Amino acid sequence: SAKEAGRSCFKFYRDSMNATAAIRLQLEQDLRTALKSGEIVPFYQPQICAETGNIVSVEALVRWLPAQGGIIPPDEFIPIAEETGLINDLGLLVLQHSCKQAKQWLDQGHRIRVAVNVSAHQFRQLDFTQVVEKTLKECNLPPSLLELELTESVIMSDAEENIKRLIELKNLGVTLAVDDFGTGYSSLSYLKKFPIDILKIDRAFMCDVNSAPDDIAIVEAILALAKSLKLGVIAEGIEEAEQIDILKSSKNLLLQGYLFSRPLAAEKITPLLNQNFTHFMQN
Ligand code: C2E
Ligand code: MG
Ligand code: MG
Ligand code: MG
Repeated sequence: SAKEAGRSCFKFYRDSMNATAAIRLQLEQDLRTALKSGEIVPFYQPQICAETGNIVSVEALVRWLPAQGGIIPPDEFIPIAEETGLINDLGLLVLQHSCKQAKQWLDQGHRIRVAVNVSAHQFRQLDFTQVVEKTLKECNLPPSLLELELTESVIMSDAEENIKRLIELKNLGVTLAVDDFGTGYSSLSYLKKFPIDILKIDRAFMCDVNSAPDDIAIVEAILALAKSLKLGVIAEGIEEAEQIDILKSSKNLLLQGYLFSRPLAAEKITPLLNQNFTHFMQN
């Protein structure tokens, strides 16, 4: 079946991550082709306002849908894309799809922001800001409906250079989020210097938040930090309503995780946009 074919393909690529150069070269070529043939697309995962239960934004998460069926997750091909520089084409493709999709939702009456992951490689391109600006213009998307997710390590890799880049991006009017917050650098002073809007609490801290006191302490510290710096917070990896309890008192809080929805193809997201998720939050 197509599903089985997809699974073996999936296995093939996973194994190839530590396989010979020849197989990796094959994967690179397949990825190059897939980027042109439309097999690479973003899925979208809802981010829900904790106060209202409405979807306010979605995260674009890239998927490879091979012609023979199945779904290859990003961990299977992002590393190769990074190594080969294909990540720039991939990133642009996801950015373009996402902006087009957000504009389409807007035209249908849904004011949904779309969050796009930006890799180190992309962020370091000298014309990255212009690429973002051009894409927003081409799609006729209000910049406020685009969010860019950067990891701490990308931001901190060259703090002085990056601060300029972030200010440029901020001046476009886009929203800037720190992805996987808490897993990278320990220096927090950059949060004050950099024009960041949102901290995304890494899934690792949310996992055991009801059993592990250490994780609770970290999550509470991040919430307090966000509050005093007036930053928004997104908690990812919410799988159970119990995980939300610890977060409840915070303002400007968005929730993301399998409890609400897995990442889905755009056409499967559209019918969810009118839905209210409050009942998912009660345990
Ligand atoms: P990320 O940006 O931290 O994305 C969150 C990951 O957590 C996604 O995995 C998402 O599917 C997963 N997730 C969300 N809710 C839950 C949950 O409740 N439980 C569990 N177990 N997992 C959950 P995914 O889609 O496999 O993406 C993995 C990573 O690949 C992303 O981590 C991001 O670093 C990277 N990635 C994905 N799309 C892109 C892209 O377009 N460009 C770049 N540069 N990287 C991407
Ligand atoms: Mg992300
Ligand atoms: Mg993340
Ligand atoms: Mg992550």
